[in-house]
Amino acid sequence: MPSPNFDERPQGCDVELVVVHNISLPPREFGGPYIDALFTNTLDARAHGYFADIADLRVSAHLLIDRDGRVTQYVPFSRRAWHAGESCFQDRTRCNDFSVGIELEGADDVPFEEMQYRRLAEVIRVIRAEWPGITWERIVGHSDIAPQRKTDPGPAFDWQKLKGLVEANTIPSPPAGERARERGF
Ligand SMILES: [Zn+2]
Repeated sequence: MPSPNFDERPQGCDVELVVVHNISLPPREFGGPYIDALFTNTLDARAHGYFADIADLRVSAHLLIDRDGRVTQYVPFSRRAWHAGESCFQDRTRCNDFSVGIELEGADDVPFEEMQYRRLAEVIRVIRAEWPGITWERIVGHSDIAPQRKTDPGPAFDWQKLKGLVEANTIPSPPAGERARERGF
């Protein structure tokens, strides 16, 4: 589902970070069409009291994983999505420049679904196959890179569980030359 809310990564800027978020619209309600609407600038400000404040935001993420584990992609990984805002990772600001943003449908204090962890681990495996420099330390929460402003994915998100799944899924990536050949370059 293409979002208009993206632009180019700065020249020479590669994907080096994965940022995990949560979102639900309205907050703590799951399953509606409103996240897609927010990321495609079609959210009806009158549909819910909360929406008036956010309908004019121009934001996006690369991916959303809904409560059933379904993945929606809004922005290609090669482009810059607008998910992190003012942020800093290891003294480097503007995390949107060098990150992939993944939203889990959820709320800070509501347990996430098993399928969401599984899908997230699978997605991370795919991303790491392309960008092997994304070590576990480079998979962070929004709250880690914007601690004054953001709390997501929140205390209900089980990082150890994700880590177990990611490591179980880790397959050695082939040398770069082999990857390029597979892709026909
Ligand atoms: Zn966030």
